[in-house]
Amino acid sequence: MAAKIHILRSDLANKIAAGEVVQRPSSAVKELIENSLDAGARTIFVRIEDAGKSVLQVVDDGEGMSEEDARLSFRRHATSKISLPEDLENIRTLGFRGEALASVGAVARVELKTRTVDEDVGTLVRVEGDEIREVSRTACERGTSVVVKNLFYNTPARRNFLKSQQTERKQTSDVVTRMALAYPQVSWHYVSDEETLLNLAPASFEERVCDIVGKKQFEQLVRVQEKTDYVSIDGYIGRPDFGRKSRTDQFLFLNGRYIVNRAINHAVFQAYEHLLVKGSFPFFILRLTVDPRNVDVNVHPSKLEVKFENESNMYRLVLSVIRKTLASNDLVPAMEMAGVEAGGGIDARLRFGGSQDAPDPMAIPGQIDLDQLFQRARYAPEGVAVNSLTPILRREPVERIVAQEAEQGGGHEGRAIWQVHNKYILSQIKTGIMIVDQHVAHERILYERALASFENNLPASQQLLFPQTVQLTPGDYSLVRDLLPHLETLGFVLKPFGKHTVVIEGIPADVRVGSERKILQDLLDEFRNNEHHATVDARDNLAKSFACKAAIKAGDRLTVQEMVGLIDQLFLTTMPYVCPHGRPVVVKISLDELDKRFGRT
Ligand code: ADP
Ligand code: MG
Repeated sequence: MAAKIHILRSDLANKIAAGEVVQRPSSAVKELIENSLDAGARTIFVRIEDAGKSVLQVVDDGEGMSEEDARLSFRRHATSKISLPEDLENIRTLGFRGEALASVGAVARVELKTRTVDEDVGTLVRVEGDEIREVSRTACERGTSVVVKNLFYNTPARRNFLKSQQTERKQTSDVVTRMALAYPQVSWHYVSDEETLLNLAPASFEERVCDIVGKKQFEQLVRVQEKTDYVSIDGYIGRPDFGRKSRTDQFLFLNGRYIVNRAINHAVFQAYEHLLVKGSFPFFILRLTVDPRNVDVNVHPSKLEVKFENESNMYRLVLSVIRKTLASNDLVPAMEMAGVEAGGGIDARLRFGGSQDAPDPMAIPGQIDLDQLFQRARYAPEGVAVNSLTPILRREPVERIVAQEAEQGGGHEGRAIWQVHNKYILSQIKTGIMIVDQHVAHERILYERALASFENNLPASQQLLFPQTVQLTPGDYSLVRDLLPHLETLGFVLKPFGKHTVVIEGIPADVRVGSERKILQDLLDEFRNNEHHATVDARDNLAKSFACKAAIKAGDRLTVQEMVGLIDQLFLTTMPYVCPHGRPVVVKISLDELDKRFGRT
């Protein structure tokens, strides 16, 4: 029988490789830019037409190629960047696989013009469908220009797979933006259908970031800088109230290469935990520099993923650096309830007019400006500022006072405070009025107390006069047994009684007596619900579940003392403006705002 195996024709092999290297116009642009940077370009010009589907071009002023190199550059596995197996362990260039030009040449009509500094005339190479069609002398500037026309003209499946013009254009814009951020020393020009989208002179990193994100947004960023033996970290992170509604404003660079790394993204996210409003993501631009020997960039043909020698180390490092940065900056939130004005904002800028008009998660209707409210609040993750364990909720019969000036309440310096619809606390402050959601406020307090109890192992509990017996399901019963030490640290005094029964003899100091059974049951349910989120550890989950279920609810009447206590305690927490689940706790309406509304200007 004749052999059934044969070696693939090179055009077919290149087409297959192209499937991985060049998936869309933006990946071709990325590869070409990488070549320009590897060639030492100081100026890079990128042009696309029709979202890159009909034309994409990258021009650089780098070292260029001789005629021989220009011919060779389209061969698969043709590279000038590595030659020995050990080179693979120490990659200092963006490219090294020798696949990009071969791939582009296999699926498009390509015209390359190039000239080195020693030559007077340059070389033109025309490639179509993996075949060199023309090599000739041509006049051109020093450097290289690659024009890619009719991308995927001979791979219809791939062409049909492309998304809308707008999506493809955005992808390319993202690529150029990232490159411009990573290489501020390079001058960038980016044109799409004759429209100039970027025109950037060489700059410092700081200036470049400011150019890209916009001046106003830049003010919302905090610098991160840290150097250890293993890695140096340099970049910017957004203040917590500058949380973004998607992950697209997250830029991670490793040795000048844009990468995607879930572990590091997660480390950053984790550092912000509880600081961000639910559903928002931190903004960050981080440039990591490590010895290339400690990282493997040869994981995927697109080189988007990398493997660190010691990923968990990296994770901890990033986590602690971001935490430290957050802690050492005054993070008094400057929430602007007016929302991002049309046309401005980082989204519009980075997305080049992409239609991303989802509502800002921080934008509570009503144009309220929270600016000066949180003067007292400062985030300090280490050394939680929960010192006083004074019970907020007194258990003497609740006085049914709905509105009362607190002056008569004694010692509250003329603070006027009201409960509205048994849900919100309305209070006069120096600059206007403040509205607090009583449930989430209490939740924040209990949450931080719970964490503090775990930290110092000092349970504060109150003895129940009449111990309560609760019958649990077998599952819940074993959960209680598992969590018993932690529950005790929280302040519960529980005696497993056999037959899935638990006797509650004491409860945490700050919980209202009367619904302890329900609280325990709800807490267990909540704990289970949260268990599926891989990010929360058991203690944190317990603290959150407890805070959520034990906190006073909307609908609970509060006395003036209780309200005053609640607000005082709230502003002793490390993060009074968001609850552990990320809901806002406080809203302020300034006197100015009120005056404006009433035409008193
Ligand atoms: P790789 O970048 O992985 O080496 P490519 O297929 O992208 O593979 O490029 C092949 C070779 O062509 C490179 O190694 C480089 O020597 C040369 N080359 C490609 N683009 C340029 C450019 N813009 N300027 C100078 N040389 C280039
Ligand atoms: Mg390359």
